Amino acid sequence: MAYLGNPQNTILVLQKYNFNFQKKFGQNFLIDTHVLDKIISSAGITKDDFVLEIGPGIGTMTQYLCENAREVAAVEIDRNLIPILADTLSEYDNVEVINEDILKLDICALAERKNDGKPIKVVANLPYYITTPIIMGLFESKVPIDSITIMVQKEVADRMQSGPGSKDYGALSLAVQYYAKPEIVANVPPNCFMPRPNVGSAVIRLTRHANPPVEVQDEKLMFALIRASFNQRRKTLANGLNNSPEIHLSKEQIQESILALGVPVNIRGEALTLEQFAQLSNIVKESI
Ligand code: SAM
Repeated sequence: MAYLGNPQNTILVLQKYNFNFQKKFGQNFLIDTHVLDKIISSAGITKDDFVLEIGPGIGTMTQYLCENAREVAAVEIDRNLIPILADTLSEYDNVEVINEDILKLDICALAERKNDGKPIKVVANLPYYITTPIIMGLFESKVPIDSITIMVQKEVADRMQSGPGSKDYGALSLAVQYYAKPEIVANVPPNCFMPRPNVGSAVIRLTRHANPPVEVQDEKLMFALIRASFNQRRKTLANGLNNSPEIHLSKEQIQESILALGVPVNIRGEALTLEQFAQLSNIVKESI
Protein backbone atom coordinates (compact mmCIF):
# COMPACT_ATOMS: atom_id res chain seq x y z
CA MET A 1 0.00 0.00 0.00
CA ALA A 2 1.36 3.40 -1.03
CA TYR A 3 1.63 6.31 1.37
CA LEU A 4 -1.64 8.19 1.53
CA GLY A 5 -0.39 11.68 2.33
CA ASN A 6 -1.07 13.17 -1.10
CA PRO A 7 -4.30 13.95 -3.00
CA GLN A 8 -3.91 11.24 -5.68
CA ASN A 9 -3.46 8.31 -3.30
CA THR A 10 -6.17 9.56 -0.95
CA ILE A 11 -8.63 9.82 -3.86
CA LEU A 12 -7.73 6.30 -5.02
CA VAL A 13 -8.53 4.84 -1.61
CA LEU A 14 -11.76 6.83 -1.26
CA GLN A 15 -12.90 5.65 -4.70
CA LYS A 16 -11.91 2.03 -4.11
CA TYR A 17 -14.18 1.92 -1.05
CA ASN A 18 -16.82 4.34 -2.34
CA PHE A 19 -16.33 6.30 0.89
CA ASN A 20 -18.63 9.22 1.71
CA PHE A 21 -17.31 11.89 4.12
CA GLN A 22 -19.40 12.29 7.25
CA LYS A 23 -19.62 15.92 8.27
CA LYS A 24 -20.95 14.98 11.71
CA PHE A 25 -17.62 13.24 12.48
CA GLY A 26 -15.48 16.24 11.49
CA GLN A 27 -13.77 14.34 8.67
CA ASN A 28 -11.04 16.38 6.96
CA PHE A 29 -8.20 14.12 5.89
CA LEU A 30 -4.61 15.35 5.61
CA ILE A 31 -3.11 15.37 2.11
CA ASP A 32 0.22 17.14 2.71
CA THR A 33 3.41 15.22 3.49
CA HIS A 34 5.21 18.31 4.89
CA VAL A 35 2.51 18.74 7.52
CA LEU A 36 2.64 15.03 8.38
CA ASP A 37 6.46 15.17 8.76
CA LYS A 38 6.12 18.24 10.96
CA ILE A 39 3.58 16.58 13.27
CA ILE A 40 5.73 13.46 13.68
CA SER A 41 8.94 15.44 14.34
CA SER A 42 7.24 17.86 16.77
CA ALA A 43 5.80 14.94 18.72
CA GLY A 44 9.37 13.60 19.11
CA ILE A 45 8.26 10.01 18.54
CA THR A 46 10.85 7.27 18.95
CA LYS A 47 10.85 3.47 18.71
CA ASP A 48 10.37 3.36 22.50
CA ASP A 49 6.99 5.10 22.34
CA PHE A 50 3.46 3.87 22.52
CA VAL A 51 1.24 6.38 20.68
CA LEU A 52 -2.50 6.86 20.91
CA GLU A 53 -3.96 8.29 17.70
CA ILE A 54 -7.45 9.76 17.91
CA GLY A 55 -9.42 9.54 14.66
CA PRO A 56 -7.09 7.85 12.12
CA GLY A 57 -9.48 8.41 9.18
CA ILE A 58 -8.13 6.33 6.28
CA GLY A 59 -4.81 5.85 8.12
CA THR A 60 -2.73 8.64 6.56
CA MET A 61 -0.93 9.71 9.73
CA THR A 62 -1.19 6.23 11.23
CA GLN A 63 1.25 4.94 8.59
CA TYR A 64 3.82 7.53 9.69
CA LEU A 65 3.20 6.73 13.35
CA CYS A 66 3.65 2.98 12.77
CA GLU A 67 7.00 3.60 11.10
CA ASN A 68 8.29 5.82 13.91
CA ALA A 69 6.76 4.42 17.12
CA ARG A 70 7.05 1.09 18.93
CA GLU A 71 3.29 0.60 18.97
CA VAL A 72 0.19 2.53 17.95
CA ALA A 73 -3.47 2.34 19.01
CA ALA A 74 -5.80 4.19 16.64
CA VAL A 75 -9.32 4.92 17.89
CA GLU A 76 -11.86 5.58 15.14
CA ILE A 77 -15.62 6.08 15.65
CA ASP A 78 -16.72 5.61 12.01
CA ARG A 79 -17.21 1.90 11.32
CA ASN A 80 -17.12 2.54 7.56
CA LEU A 81 -13.43 3.36 7.95
CA ILE A 82 -12.50 0.09 9.68
CA PRO A 83 -12.20 -2.08 6.51
CA ILE A 84 -10.25 0.74 4.83
CA LEU A 85 -7.81 0.90 7.76
CA ALA A 86 -7.37 -2.89 7.63
CA ASP A 87 -6.21 -2.42 4.04
CA THR A 88 -4.08 0.75 4.35
CA LEU A 89 -2.33 -0.49 7.51
CA SER A 90 -1.96 -4.15 6.41
CA GLU A 91 1.84 -3.87 6.24
CA TYR A 92 2.20 -2.93 9.91
CA ASP A 93 2.09 -5.37 12.80
CA ASN A 94 2.50 -2.71 15.51
CA VAL A 95 -0.96 -1.13 15.27
CA GLU A 96 -4.33 -1.89 16.86
CA VAL A 97 -7.40 -0.17 15.41
CA ILE A 98 -10.18 0.30 17.97
CA ASN A 99 -13.67 1.08 16.65
CA GLU A 100 -14.89 3.29 19.52
CA ASP A 101 -15.90 6.79 20.50
CA ILE A 102 -12.79 8.29 22.12
CA LEU A 103 -14.98 10.04 24.69
CA LYS A 104 -16.26 6.66 25.90
CA LEU A 105 -12.99 4.69 25.84
CA ASP A 106 -11.16 3.90 29.10
CA ILE A 107 -7.81 5.40 28.05
CA CYS A 108 -6.21 4.71 31.44
CA ALA A 109 -6.87 0.98 30.92
CA LEU A 110 -5.45 1.23 27.38
CA ALA A 111 -2.27 2.95 28.68
CA GLU A 112 -1.96 0.26 31.34
CA ARG A 113 -2.37 -2.57 28.82
CA LYS A 114 -0.12 -1.12 26.11
CA ASN A 115 2.48 0.85 28.05
CA ASP A 116 2.48 -0.61 31.60
CA GLY A 117 0.80 2.60 32.83
CA LYS A 118 3.79 4.72 31.77
CA PRO A 119 3.16 8.15 30.18
CA ILE A 120 1.90 7.89 26.60
CA LYS A 121 2.10 10.22 23.63
CA VAL A 122 -1.12 11.31 21.98
CA VAL A 123 -1.07 12.45 18.36
CA ALA A 124 -4.13 13.46 16.35
CA ASN A 125 -5.68 15.52 13.62
CA LEU A 126 -8.68 16.07 15.85
CA PRO A 127 -12.33 16.17 14.89
CA TYR A 128 -12.92 19.88 15.63
CA TYR A 129 -16.45 19.47 17.00
CA ILE A 130 -15.12 17.80 20.16
CA THR A 131 -11.62 19.30 20.58
CA THR A 132 -12.18 20.67 24.09
CA PRO A 133 -13.89 17.61 25.63
CA ILE A 134 -11.15 15.36 24.23
CA ILE A 135 -8.30 17.46 25.66
CA MET A 136 -9.95 18.10 29.01
CA GLY A 137 -10.95 14.42 29.22
CA LEU A 138 -7.31 13.39 28.72
CA PHE A 139 -6.06 15.74 31.43
CA GLU A 140 -8.85 15.36 33.99
CA SER A 141 -9.15 11.57 33.81
CA LYS A 142 -5.52 11.32 34.99
CA VAL A 143 -4.42 9.33 31.94
CA PRO A 144 -0.60 9.15 32.19
CA ILE A 145 0.42 11.60 29.45
CA ASP A 146 3.84 12.65 28.19
CA SER A 147 2.62 15.00 25.46
CA ILE A 148 -0.34 15.68 23.19
CA THR A 149 0.48 16.84 19.65
CA ILE A 150 -2.67 17.80 17.81
CA MET A 151 -4.13 19.59 14.84
CA VAL A 152 -6.87 21.94 16.00
CA GLN A 153 -8.71 24.98 14.70
CA LYS A 154 -6.22 27.90 14.61
CA GLU A 155 -8.45 29.99 16.86
CA VAL A 156 -8.53 27.22 19.49
CA ALA A 157 -4.72 26.85 19.36
CA ASP A 158 -4.42 30.62 19.98
CA ARG A 159 -6.79 30.35 22.94
CA MET A 160 -4.74 27.55 24.51
CA GLN A 161 -1.51 29.55 24.26
CA SER A 162 -2.64 33.04 25.34
CA GLY A 163 -2.34 34.88 28.65
CA PRO A 164 -4.02 37.82 30.43
CA GLY A 165 -4.51 40.91 28.27
CA SER A 166 -5.21 38.94 25.09
CA LYS A 167 -8.73 38.69 23.64
CA ASP A 168 -8.17 34.95 23.26
CA TYR A 169 -7.48 34.42 26.98
CA GLY A 170 -10.14 32.39 28.78
CA ALA A 171 -11.07 29.26 30.69
CA LEU A 172 -9.48 26.98 28.06
CA SER A 173 -6.12 28.85 28.27
CA LEU A 174 -6.04 28.45 32.04
CA ALA A 175 -7.10 24.81 32.05
CA VAL A 176 -4.55 23.81 29.41
CA GLN A 177 -1.73 25.81 31.04
CA TYR A 178 -2.47 24.28 34.44
CA TYR A 179 -1.79 20.83 33.03
CA ALA A 180 0.72 21.47 30.24
CA LYS A 181 3.08 23.79 28.40
CA PRO A 182 1.43 24.70 25.05
CA GLU A 183 3.44 25.52 21.94
CA ILE A 184 2.07 26.14 18.44
CA VAL A 185 4.45 24.37 16.07
CA ALA A 186 2.81 25.00 12.67
CA ASN A 187 0.01 26.91 11.03
CA VAL A 188 -1.81 24.83 8.44
CA PRO A 189 -4.01 26.27 5.64
CA PRO A 190 -7.28 24.63 4.50
CA ASN A 191 -5.75 23.32 1.23
CA CYS A 192 -3.76 20.70 3.20
CA PHE A 193 -7.00 18.77 3.83
CA MET A 194 -9.62 16.89 1.83
CA PRO A 195 -12.31 18.19 1.96
CA ARG A 196 -11.08 21.70 2.86
CA PRO A 197 -12.30 22.95 6.25
CA ASN A 198 -13.81 26.46 6.46
CA VAL A 199 -11.25 27.53 9.07
CA GLY A 200 -7.47 27.76 9.40
CA SER A 201 -5.76 25.07 11.49
CA ALA A 202 -2.65 24.80 13.65
CA VAL A 203 -0.56 22.03 15.15
CA ILE A 204 -0.03 22.56 18.87
CA ARG A 205 2.09 20.48 21.25
CA LEU A 206 1.01 20.27 24.88
CA THR A 207 3.86 18.99 27.04
CA ARG A 208 2.49 17.71 30.35
CA HIS A 209 3.91 19.41 33.46
CA ALA A 210 5.57 16.94 35.83
CA ASN A 211 3.91 18.96 38.63
CA PRO A 212 1.30 21.71 38.24
CA PRO A 213 2.98 25.15 38.01
CA VAL A 214 0.83 26.52 40.88
CA GLU A 215 -0.19 25.19 44.28
CA VAL A 216 -3.91 24.61 44.58
CA GLN A 217 -5.71 23.12 47.59
CA ASP A 218 -8.90 22.36 45.68
CA GLU A 219 -8.66 22.02 41.87
CA LYS A 220 -12.44 21.75 41.44
CA LEU A 221 -12.95 25.03 43.28
CA MET A 222 -10.28 26.79 41.20
CA PHE A 223 -11.90 25.66 37.95
CA ALA A 224 -15.36 26.71 39.23
CA LEU A 225 -13.93 30.18 39.96
CA ILE A 226 -12.36 30.32 36.49
CA ARG A 227 -15.61 29.30 34.78
CA ALA A 228 -17.58 31.85 36.80
CA SER A 229 -15.13 34.65 35.91
CA PHE A 230 -15.26 34.02 32.18
CA ASN A 231 -18.98 33.26 31.90
CA GLN A 232 -19.67 36.96 31.92
CA ARG A 233 -16.63 38.45 30.25
CA ARG A 234 -17.49 42.12 30.48
CA LYS A 235 -18.51 41.95 34.15
CA THR A 236 -16.19 42.39 37.09
CA LEU A 237 -14.76 39.31 38.79
CA ALA A 238 -16.93 40.06 41.85
CA ASN A 239 -20.12 40.12 39.76
CA GLY A 240 -19.13 36.98 37.87
CA LEU A 241 -18.60 35.08 41.13
CA ASN A 242 -21.76 36.53 42.66
CA ASN A 243 -23.92 35.46 39.71
CA SER A 244 -22.49 31.94 39.45
CA PRO A 245 -24.71 29.05 40.59
CA GLU A 246 -21.51 27.12 41.32
CA ILE A 247 -20.06 29.57 43.88
CA HIS A 248 -21.82 29.80 47.24
CA LEU A 249 -20.30 32.92 48.80
CA SER A 250 -21.88 36.14 50.08
CA LYS A 251 -21.10 39.45 48.38
CA GLU A 252 -18.96 40.39 51.38
CA GLN A 253 -17.00 37.13 51.32
CA ILE A 254 -16.30 37.66 47.61
CA GLN A 255 -15.10 41.23 48.11
CA GLU A 256 -12.88 40.24 51.05
CA SER A 257 -11.34 37.37 49.08
CA ILE A 258 -10.55 39.63 46.11
CA LEU A 259 -9.00 42.26 48.37
CA ALA A 260 -6.99 39.57 50.17
CA LEU A 261 -5.51 38.72 46.78
CA GLY A 262 -4.11 42.26 46.70
CA VAL A 263 -5.94 43.43 43.57
CA PRO A 264 -8.65 46.12 43.09
CA VAL A 265 -12.12 44.93 44.07
CA ASN A 266 -13.49 45.93 40.63
CA ILE A 267 -10.90 43.89 38.68
CA ARG A 268 -12.11 41.74 35.76
CA GLY A 269 -11.45 38.00 35.79
CA GLU A 270 -9.67 38.20 32.44
CA ALA A 271 -6.89 40.26 34.13
CA LEU A 272 -5.93 37.45 36.54
CA THR A 273 -3.05 35.06 35.89
CA LEU A 274 -3.20 31.33 36.61
CA GLU A 275 -1.13 31.99 39.73
CA GLN A 276 -3.71 34.54 40.94
CA PHE A 277 -6.63 32.19 40.28
CA ALA A 278 -4.78 29.55 42.30
CA GLN A 279 -4.23 32.02 45.17
CA LEU A 280 -7.84 33.20 45.02
CA SER A 281 -9.12 29.63 45.23
CA ASN A 282 -6.86 28.97 48.25
CA ILE A 283 -8.16 32.16 49.94
CA VAL A 284 -11.79 31.18 49.23
CA LYS A 285 -11.16 27.61 50.42
CA GLU A 286 -9.96 28.90 53.76
CA SER A 287 -12.84 31.31 54.17
CA ILE A 288 -15.53 28.61 53.74
N1 SAM B 1 -6.23 11.36 11.05
C1 SAM B 1 -6.90 11.49 9.77
C2 SAM B 1 -6.13 12.45 8.90
O1 SAM B 1 -5.37 13.24 9.44
O2 SAM B 1 -6.29 12.40 7.69
C3 SAM B 1 -8.36 11.94 9.94
C4 SAM B 1 -8.58 13.21 10.73
S1 SAM B 1 -10.25 13.80 10.71
C5 SAM B 1 -10.01 15.52 11.06
C6 SAM B 1 -10.94 13.27 12.29
C7 SAM B 1 -11.20 11.79 12.44
O3 SAM B 1 -11.74 11.53 13.74
C8 SAM B 1 -12.20 11.21 11.45
O4 SAM B 1 -11.69 10.01 10.91
C9 SAM B 1 -13.46 10.94 12.30
O5 SAM B 1 -14.25 9.88 11.81
C10 SAM B 1 -12.83 10.61 13.65
N2 SAM B 1 -13.71 10.85 14.81
C11 SAM B 1 -14.70 11.78 14.93
N3 SAM B 1 -15.27 11.72 16.14
C12 SAM B 1 -14.63 10.74 16.83
C13 SAM B 1 -14.79 10.19 18.14
N4 SAM B 1 -15.71 10.65 18.99
N5 SAM B 1 -13.99 9.16 18.50
C14 SAM B 1 -13.04 8.67 17.64
N6 SAM B 1 -12.86 9.16 16.39
C15 SAM B 1 -13.63 10.18 15.98
